[in-house]
Amino acid sequence: MAYIKDGVGIIGVNALHHPNRQRFSAAHELAHHMLHAPVISQAVHVDKGIRVLFRNDVSALGTEPMEIEANAFASELLIPGDLLAAALEGGGVDLEDEAAIEALARRFRVSPAAMRFRLTRW
Ligand SMILES: [Zn+2]
Repeated sequence: MAYIKDGVGIIGVNALHHPNRQRFSAAHELAHHMLHAPVISQAVHVDKGIRVLFRNDVSALGTEPMEIEANAFASELLIPGDLLAAALEGGGVDLEDEAAIEALARRFRVSPAAMRFRLTRW
């Protein structure tokens, strides 16, 4: 969740989730603070749909503009383009190559689904 109360920003993530998922959720909520402050100042913004990014289906992304923006922000924050380029050593990666995706995901401490999402928006 993300909220701004009396000018104080608040982010909450589920401590029971996998640490990689918590990192993505925190980055997603930070995006709402950076991009959507007027909205989250009016009411607590509770995200239940971020988990769609953690399914194996890359196409199962958020459909609301705010959520799409927050996912893109989080993805780029956690997997910076210059570091990803360095990791790929000038080459590419086969999105069907599960082992390669998982190795990259471990390196950036994100889920394989989050890595796949980033690679498709490269
Ligand atoms: Zn959100």
